[in-house]
Amino acid sequence: MNLQSQEKSTQQNYGSDPLEVRDTNHYKSEYIHPFVERWDQLIDWDGRAEAEGDFFISALREHGVKKVLDVATGTGFHSVRLLRAGFEVTSADGSPTMLAKAFENARKRDYLLRTAQADWRWLNRDIHDYYDAVICLGNSFTHLHDDNDRRKALAEFYATLKHDGILIIDQRNYDALLDHKVEPTHNFYYCGDNVRATPEHVDESLARFRYEFPDDEVFHLNMFPLRKKYVRRLLREVGFQHVTTYGDFQETYRDAEPDFFIHVAEKR
Ligand code: SAM
Repeated sequence: MNLQSQEKSTQQNYGSDPLEVRDTNHYKSEYIHPFVERWDQLIDWDGRAEAEGDFFISALREHGVKKVLDVATGTGFHSVRLLRAGFEVTSADGSPTMLAKAFENARKRDYLLRTAQADWRWLNRDIHDYYDAVICLGNSFTHLHDDNDRRKALAEFYATLKHDGILIIDQRNYDALLDHKVEPTHNFYYCGDNVRATPEHVDESLARFRYEFPDDEVFHLNMFPLRKKYVRRLLREVGFQHVTTYGDFQETYRDAEPDFFIHVAEKR
């Protein structure tokens, strides 16, 4: 099946051994139309807005940000929030299905998204402008399955930032999962009441999650379990001068506790 027909298909296709699918290119065929249509039940815009408060808006304002590139727009939650808060936003994503949903969600709220379909690994082929901030949120970076792809994507984010720009990138607390310390509760990001998101398989190079919806539909995502230290090191290695990591939006936390880490990386 080619990629276009995979995106239009009604079932995800992980082949005969789903645990073998550890491929960066697979994300487009994971976000098939019926899954994208249900994504907002999973993240629940109102619950999520309440849970994260004005953390991102304050962080962006503190750094004097005006112009933002949302590289993982998904269904548009952060793009719309930032437009509403007065930022100038460009909304990019590699998945056309996600971008179409984001555009529709924004229209319903009287905003017109400026969208660009762009894969992070070749971002600057499609994005020809400079930004005060790049945001990559909602545990998106986890879709890159190999080290080279992650370095390439971060280098592309770095290149599209102005000299004093910032990157805000987040990740699930996979250390806790890998080290069997806790089972993150997904309270902060996945707020939908009737949706179950559970790790079905976790090893050092795969976290396969199962998403169960009230209508008995089940979808999966195969992701790379990023360790916090590794992401911080990569950010430094591609050139970011200063990286601050928050746990569930707090500056102080015990490592095993947060569900999510948020890194604010400064180019300077
Ligand atoms: N930020 C949104 C949110 O918080 O709801 C979406 C998060 S969703 C987990 C991950 C998004 O990253 C998807 O929309 C997917 O298409 C996008 N994505 C994954 N890998 C990508 C890549 N290599 N290039 C561009 N977009 C990618």
